Amino acid sequence: MRRIARSSKPATVAVQPVASSRRNPFTGLSTPVVRASTVVFPDAASFDARYGDFYDGYTYGLFGTPTSKALEDQLNALSGASRTLLAPSGQAALSLVFTTFLKPGEHVLLPDGVYGPVRGFASSWLAGWGVDVEFYDPCIGGGIAGLLRKATRLVLVESPCSNTMEMQDVPAIAAAAHAGGAIVAADTTWATPLHFDAFRHGVDLTIEALSKYASGHGDVLMGAIAMRQEGLYRRLKDMTRLFGLGVSPDDCSLVLRGLQTMPLRVERSSATALRVARHLDGLADVGRVLHPGLVDDPGHALWKRDFMGASGVFSFLLADDLKGLENTFVDALTLFALGASWGSARRVVAPQDPAPGRTATRWTDGKLIRLSIGLEDPDDLIADLDAAFDHVRRVADIQPTQSKPAA
Ligand SMILES: *Cc1c(COP(=O)(O)O)cnc(C)c1O
Repeated sequence: MRRIARSSKPATVAVQPVASSRRNPFTGLSTPVVRASTVVFPDAASFDARYGDFYDGYTYGLFGTPTSKALEDQLNALSGASRTLLAPSGQAALSLVFTTFLKPGEHVLLPDGVYGPVRGFASSWLAGWGVDVEFYDPCIGGGIAGLLRKATRLVLVESPCSNTMEMQDVPAIAAAAHAGGAIVAADTTWATPLHFDAFRHGVDLTIEALSKYASGHGDVLMGAIAMRQEGLYRRLKDMTRLFGLGVSPDDCSLVLRGLQTMPLRVERSSATALRVARHLDGLADVGRVLHPGLVDDPGHALWKRDFMGASGVFSFLLADDLKGLENTFVDALTLFALGASWGSARRVVAPQDPAPGRTATRWTDGKLIRLSIGLEDPDDLIADLDAAFDHVRRVADIQPTQSKPAA
């Protein structure tokens, strides 16, 4: 180790670390937060050679400290990846994948129900840069072979799709994409690696918004890209260096804390969500519940085949005679917070109109209402939803009904 000379002059003493005189080293249960911009080296030769160990060593705080590496290791263990790369947000992780693996003149396929900001990035930035952006019917399955071209470099799947909840036949899409020489990336934020093993279903890269279930408390923004191929990892890591993208060790420590309870939280949220979804499914005031865990959902068979569980997020449509009253319904809820994002301990509601964001398919069902169920007592949530239905029925001047008439 390089020896640093010590001084007794106050200004120098103030900035020179004091060597510990404790006999026992400290060990706790949590991963220490190691903050750094500068990483120090023992001698000039190892400083000169620092980027030779860029993918595994420590070169500069932006590219990792022991705290971020601990989080990457933990995420590898959960997802079965060999490499995980952290990004400042889920959206940053997604745009990093697109900018790393696509060049002008190449072709990318995205599901029509893709997370809205990804559609925005692809339609504005990628298309403007010269990438050929094409949206496809999320339910296309193996039929995607017909859309693949020589120039197709990347196929994204997101199952279920954001808000509209279409399930995708990921293995069929991945097989067709691989046959055409394309990389397959999956946004696995909804199910998390706990409930969908993407690598076993043919996916090369997963992208997860850790801002949702992994951090789990609605107060951290981070994303992760996970993979099993070293070559893909190195290209992405090189790109983070060019763009200067890194994550804060303090945030990593919060995500490491969140991961410890993620299995419990996801299990509880999904169980409560399914109970609420079944309740809504039985109401005459509800047109349709969009939740692949319901047996009559069009995506149920795929969900059952490929997934190990659900999550706390699903959507529903008001019945035809209440259409147009979605905002009135949302405003009548007293327990649900209204906002974007989801996956925290607290329930959140958001009204959405998918129609303007569709280009490959048509959405004709009007506005939907998306619920993110947290860790609350299910009866409280059901009572709040029921009271909001009573309210919109009064507004629409419709007589109260308890349940759908028997068919
Ligand atoms: C929220 C979300 C993202 C983006 O995550 P941020 O960390 O908020 O940028 C990406 N994909 C899906 C499916 C999401 O729900």
